[in-house]
Amino acid sequence: MTQFTRRDVVAGLSAIATSGLAAPALAQAAYPSRPITMVIPFAAGGPTDTVGRLIAQAMSADLGQPVVVENVGGAGGTLGAQRVAGARPDGYSILLHHIGMATIPTLYRRLAYDPVNGFETLGLVTEVPMTLIARRNIEANSLAELVALIRQRGENLNYANAGIGAASHLCGLLLMKAVDTRMTTVPYRGTGPAMNDLVAGTVDIMCDQTTNTTEQIRAGTVRAFAVTTEQRVAALPDLPTSAQGGLPGFEVSVWHGLYAPKGTPAPIVARLNQALVKALQDEGIARRFADLGTAPVAAARATPEIHRQFWQADIAKWRPLIQAAGQFAD
Ligand code: ASP
Repeated sequence: MTQFTRRDVVAGLSAIATSGLAAPALAQAAYPSRPITMVIPFAAGGPTDTVGRLIAQAMSADLGQPVVVENVGGAGGTLGAQRVAGARPDGYSILLHHIGMATIPTLYRRLAYDPVNGFETLGLVTEVPMTLIARRNIEANSLAELVALIRQRGENLNYANAGIGAASHLCGLLLMKAVDTRMTTVPYRGTGPAMNDLVAGTVDIMCDQTTNTTEQIRAGTVRAFAVTTEQRVAALPDLPTSAQGGLPGFEVSVWHGLYAPKGTPAPIVARLNQALVKALQDEGIARRFADLGTAPVAAARATPEIHRQFWQADIAKWRPLIQAAGQFAD
């Protein structure tokens, strides 16, 4: 029988450690060996949270480890992004964020993380229409009447949003520009809690993704005025587009993508992307997304490369618009 001395064992381990191939290969083979944290940069119960939890559950099944959602809301989605940008790039911290990844680099001039180069892209997830909604007893029955009410009451109306850089903030800016009137904005850590206040009638107006508004609109707990896309959404067939309602050009939709900290090894990026693509092809997810007025992106578009190109192009698209508006977070 072969006898191994202590020296043999030490020599063997150091050979693995210095080979440059064997050690990472061993580490990669084991990934993931413990739960993965998916940071959602907005409060629980909102649209990013809804999309994130559905995707996390399906990814867990493929990865064989729980993908645990952690809500790190506040400051328009920058606190959650900062958490992941500063995490160890080992595949155990990922971020599900939205269009804010494209506007934050210009809106925020002082951040404690690099909003452009601090992440690896893992793939696009979905693109969601937004809807313009209000408390159900608002004194308007059509978009034209709502526009008249905003012009009449101005800052006496409260517009709820999820902070500077959030989709609801951008949508509000576009709305106020379209009607040429300011309202008072009320920031929340996410539009989940904002929706609770809108349903309770303590705020007046909001713009939010169909992933948060479809069920409330159908239940009649809020009043809907328009969907802010070129086409109507199948889940809400009676709701006119903003152009049909008399506000052409008031258009915005919200894309979501998945990220890891910069420096996450390529094989781990590939494994996470594989799990994401599988989640996007899950029939249950497609059905739930359709119910909520959206759809998963096609697998061919859910690559890290396409995600990076799309994200960088969107940063370039928003930069001049934000700079021209002169509206910064600081
Ligand atoms: N929909 C929110 C936004 O305004 C964020 C959220 O709570 O998901 O960006």
